Amino acid sequence: MGIAINNGRLIDPANKIDSKLNLLIENGKVAAISGKPFSADTIIDATDLIVAPGFVDIHIHEANIDKDTGDFEIGTFESMLRMGVTTAIGGNCGFGALNPIEYLDKVDSDRIPINLGMLLPHNSLREAINFKDKYKEVSPSELTKMTGIANEWLSQGLIGVSFGLRYVPGANTKEYFEVANKAKEQNRLITAHIRDDAAGVIDALDEFISFGLDGKSKMQVSHIGSMAAFGQMDEFLSAVDQYKYNGVDISCDCYPYYAFCVAIGRTTYDDGFMQRYNTDYESIEILEGEYKNKRCTPELFAHLRQNDPDVLTTAHVMKSDEVDKALSHPNVMIASDGVLNNMQGHPRVSGTFPRALNILVNERKSMSAYEAVRKMTQMPSERLGIEKGNLAVGKDADLVLFNLASIEDKASFTNPTDEPVGIKYVLVNGHIALKENEITNSKAGQSIRIK
Ligand SMILES: [Zn+2]
Repeated sequence: MGIAINNGRLIDPANKIDSKLNLLIENGKVAAISGKPFSADTIIDATDLIVAPGFVDIHIHEANIDKDTGDFEIGTFESMLRMGVTTAIGGNCGFGALNPIEYLDKVDSDRIPINLGMLLPHNSLREAINFKDKYKEVSPSELTKMTGIANEWLSQGLIGVSFGLRYVPGANTKEYFEVANKAKEQNRLITAHIRDDAAGVIDALDEFISFGLDGKSKMQVSHIGSMAAFGQMDEFLSAVDQYKYNGVDISCDCYPYYAFCVAIGRTTYDDGFMQRYNTDYESIEILEGEYKNKRCTPELFAHLRQNDPDVLTTAHVMKSDEVDKALSHPNVMIASDGVLNNMQGHPRVSGTFPRALNILVNERKSMSAYEAVRKMTQMPSERLGIEKGNLAVGKDADLVLFNLASIEDKASFTNPTDEPVGIKYVLVNGHIALKENEITNSKAGQSIRIK
């Protein structure tokens, strides 16, 4: 019985471990850890491999559900598994499943390759009371209904609340504050895609923080590379540091790419974006459809915005040194913001964690493997308040085994789901879910609900 993982370098920041140690897995849990190799029915030789808790991705956009079949579009979750993620959190940026509790129930009935927790997307509360106009304010009685639903859903185990301030211009401060308050009452996380980026990013940070100035809220600023890596990163990180010193419980996440991803019809590309990002049409690449991987001209941009506003684009406009600076800050964790539309999208959905290890640890040598693993396991787990990212005896056996020397992301803007190299094994709840690029168990994941 059991699985032995022998001769690896165990990196487990939650327990401050970086040693050559052997693990025994039984009944889905870490059963024993020893300096001596274990014998078991299944023995994995982890010589030359790092053995770490499975990566915890605090920021993804959960898979769509196919309208015809009713099944999850499972590619998102498979891509996560292939890059070593064993737990991910959906419902980010204020948008996502209309009923996140039903979504988690479906995870448990259909089963998926990874564990999944959900935030309550703010806009789903508006949808739940059938309020469709994102430019309008809700009435006091409508807001009471929304906060009642928020309370009920949070009580059923959601991780927290997410806001997409940029995408719902009609919501006023009172609406945000009262919804955030429901998360605070249950000691849950409050995350946001804040209202503005580039020159407007500090004001947007101040606005978000105003929801939790009493120091009793757990605040998370999402994907800060795409918010502040346009010349504002130093000032932004300094502002976050100052808030923290003044008692605000705040942290951030970031993905290791220099191009962001958004549908061409979104407000991001409203008039003024070229000045905001100091760029031109050529920096915008189309990611799907007839013009896939074509760079924009003024004519193509106008044509698609008019006729195909949902088409995904990437904008190659972020400053690489500022993204790297964000990733290296001790209060910034690594998260993918992974999203797929019909298996197309940004390569971060398949490359984030291997890429961060390769770029930051191997190439730039700006970070130790231990620190990188900390940003991918312990930090997000503690932030979320979940029992993951920890390999002490008795904890869930979610693990990734990778070869640091060869680890590399392969996904590109042309082929966003190409799998990385160097991820040798992934275990989810004690099951070998991936072995040498082969998915061996795609149903080992469970929903994560907090009490
Ligand atoms: Zn976002």
